[in-house]
Amino acid sequence: MSQSLREETLKLLHLGHFGIERTNQLARTIVYWPGIDKDIHDLCKSCDSYCEHQNNPPKAPVHRSMFPEKPWSQINIDHAINFMGSNWMIIVDAFSKYPCIHLTQSPSTKSTIEPR
Ligand SMILES: [Zn+2]
Repeated sequence: MSQSLREETLKLLHLGHFGIERTNQLARTIVYWPGIDKDIHDLCKSCDSYCEHQNNPPKAPVHRSMFPEKPWSQINIDHAINFMGSNWMIIVDAFSKYPCIHLTQSPSTKSTIEPR
């Protein structure tokens, strides 16, 4: 692998600023060259503060009041568009985390409100 290709690869690996440990784990699954561990180490060291921060992200506080009182009182809806050739609507009950997946024609508001 050429030096410039290595540098491009390192740049890609660094996009998420995962920190040394996680970047190493990610790299191991897709790419290898002799000395890659050191390259990743140097890379993350060169942007110390940001990568370090990513190793220890602050935990968002859980507000009890945000938790729904009963099943199906609060739902989260998302669309998977053109997944396996179709559009899907995913509804998750915020209380039980129970997912419902519906085949849908389009992610439009109309078909979200009135799914077929
Ligand atoms: Zn970084």
